[in-house]
Amino acid sequence: MTYEKLRKFIIYMRWMQEKDLDVLTIISSPKGFGKSSFIIQCARMYNSIFGLSCKGCNQEWIYTGKAINPKGKGIFAIKDNLYEPCPKCKGTQVGKPKKFNFDLYLAYDNIEVREKVFDLPPYSPILADEGVRFMMGEDWMTSESKQMKKLFAQMRTKHMLVFANIPRFRWVDSKYRNDMTTFWVRIMFRSFAMVLQPDLGEAKDPWHLKDLEKLMGNYQYFTSEEQLTRIADKLVRKHPCCFDYFKFPKVPNEIYKEYLIARNKKAFERRDETQQIDQKQLAKIVTYNLMQNWEQILGAVKSSKKKSPTLKILEQFAFVDPNSQEPVVTHMTISNWNKEIKKLVKV
Ligand SMILES: [Zn+2]
Repeated sequence: MTYEKLRKFIIYMRWMQEKDLDVLTIISSPKGFGKSSFIIQCARMYNSIFGLSCKGCNQEWIYTGKAINPKGKGIFAIKDNLYEPCPKCKGTQVGKPKKFNFDLYLAYDNIEVREKVFDLPPYSPILADEGVRFMMGEDWMTSESKQMKKLFAQMRTKHMLVFANIPRFRWVDSKYRNDMTTFWVRIMFRSFAMVLQPDLGEAKDPWHLKDLEKLMGNYQYFTSEEQLTRIADKLVRKHPCCFDYFKFPKVPNEIYKEYLIARNKKAFERRDETQQIDQKQLAKIVTYNLMQNWEQILGAVKSSKKKSPTLKILEQFAFVDPNSQEPVVTHMTISNWNKEIKKLVKV
């Protein structure tokens, strides 16, 4: 029963994607109420319905054709046979993915959110679990707002399904909260999700946050489930943005373990980047290193197999903190940056 509502929610999202609307969902809740569990369940559901996997080359992707057929008020049917040949090897032996690929779809930090938006194929889900800094009124908004706009444009044209977790909805910069957010899911208590959509009228605040504050009132960790369900009922009846609530099922233990493994691996790989050196600073460091370490770089290039500046050489000599001698980004990131720019350079 609980999976049924989640399924409906996901199918509704897919319909919006196919209508060329952004589908950015922000999930907020007090600590420990299961934000991660919610986005894992959403993404698994989405992948189980629309995901495909190539039996030839193991490529995984999400069906890119029109899958949803609206059947009138709030009812959506899914096309019978979701099939398309493998986008990588063109193979026609295509089946369902066996499980959810966290390595592929989980983004550890902002840098990875951006990489995934640009690199993953259309219709991919992206789980920005640590969305805390993503879309907050900080660095990206000011110095890099142009890039942010590009990022959102990419999300839309590629029909991405993006989930971002954040402790408090109000922390999201109002520009992004009001203009870019398609759904806001407020986890009211453990495994209990309230779904909101913005009011598209002329209200100053499309989320009517003041009314929400009043209607929700205050509650504590000890507030009973019955009481909270009553509040949720009232919200759906009276608040213009609250359109449904449901209990979502717990993530099975073995899957949660897989998620943690993927997350920890990413945290480890990207540990140097979590300090988030700003881009200007990074450019200065690289400039300094190129000028100061040029002899070493040349030497390393000469003794390399391909006689070229490999990613390892760049990581070791160009993208290195001059004081600590620790790399400031990993060679994986350098490779991704290179690919990203390659796409933008007009030959
Ligand atoms: Zn293939």
